[in-house]
Amino acid sequence: MERIIFHIDVNSAFLSWQAKYELESLHLDRDLREIPAAVGGDPKTRHGIVLAKSSPAKKYGVTTGEPLAHALEKCPQLVIVQPRFEEYVQNSRAFIRILKEAAPVVEQASIDEAYCDMSGTRCIYGDPAAFAHRLKDRIRDELHFTVNIGISDCKLLAKMASDFEKPDRVHTLFPDEIREKMWPLPARELFLIGRSSAKKLAGLGIRTIGDIAAMDRGLLQLHFGKQGITMWEFANGIDPSPVREESDAAKSYGNSVTLRADVTDSAGAKKILLSLCETVGARLRADKVYIRSVTVTIRDCDFRTTSHQAALENATNVTEIIYEQACRLFGQLWDQTPIRLLGVSTGKITDGACSQMELFPTKAASPDPEKLSKLNAAIDNIRGRYGEDSVKRARFLEGGSHMTRGLSKAKRGRRDGPAE
Ligand SMILES: [Mg+2]
Repeated sequence: MERIIFHIDVNSAFLSWQAKYELESLHLDRDLREIPAAVGGDPKTRHGIVLAKSSPAKKYGVTTGEPLAHALEKCPQLVIVQPRFEEYVQNSRAFIRILKEAAPVVEQASIDEAYCDMSGTRCIYGDPAAFAHRLKDRIRDELHFTVNIGISDCKLLAKMASDFEKPDRVHTLFPDEIREKMWPLPARELFLIGRSSAKKLAGLGIRTIGDIAAMDRGLLQLHFGKQGITMWEFANGIDPSPVREESDAAKSYGNSVTLRADVTDSAGAKKILLSLCETVGARLRADKVYIRSVTVTIRDCDFRTTSHQAALENATNVTEIIYEQACRLFGQLWDQTPIRLLGVSTGKITDGACSQMELFPTKAASPDPEKLSKLNAAIDNIRGRYGEDSVKRARFLEGGSHMTRGLSKAKRGRRDGPAE
């Protein structure tokens, strides 16, 4: 069957939603989209950065993720408004609701973007591009903000396509269009490539996505490890990952933290991952649930957010096992670009461990999950009685928060990211 994937991305989401709020609820007569404007937070903290900017602000060189003070230097008349996350969440829900009415499978990727698997809908809706136009117009007319829709036969190409000319546009990027539409773009534009990888690529004389595609796979692997293979596959339009619908019942337990200073070393990052796994594990055990997938999210200093997920063979709620997976994923994902935010989340919740006995244990040295589980329960018990700091791992003795909570639940995850 023909595979058709849409990637739908709200144009300057936070700014559009803020503009809509001012016009419709406050009845102001300015439209933030038409003047130099930025949505930002408290300039005193790390959150005092530009979360979203209008097109006129962009013309002054204002960029997402930069400190408000810098933005004001470039554009003194910049109108700065505090973010209203509750409004954004309402708009996001309305947006996803429309997609779910139209598409058989919807995967929300962040507060303002989603993938739809439209395979097999041609007989109902007709030509996919024509339908994408109707869908985008419907969102604009009903919800009063605009989206871009990218269309292809896989998620990666659909996402690349939705990033072409904005706003309020539909673009296709099918495999036979890669040469013309994607290969001339700078390597930096390829999904997953951060500043650090781009620099390294430039050192190898690689400037465009086409250069990556033409490169020898093995050579890329030599320089970038496993990430090099993914890079090569993406540059050649290869991405077999399915569009996954998250059922409402499938809650996830996760935690993320925006760091006070960018983290630049793997050991430092892993320590933070461990502290995140500690709290996630404790919550799972408190609710007596087990998980079968682990996801690690990294947002780097350029505000590029990437995440990676792995399925576990056996359901678990053991901190050490979650941490081991998190480290593995982190190793595959991180390209050395300084890290601003780290997150660990777990999913595919079950209420039993259903741990299969290993008939032929391969790793004799790895600790017995059952013993670890008992140890975890004992530690939770002691912490419950004598306080969280009564038991600490040795790695945290020289400092650092050993149980990181990050943001409160209402502001966590999808809601605290920038939305362009
Ligand atoms: Mg967006």
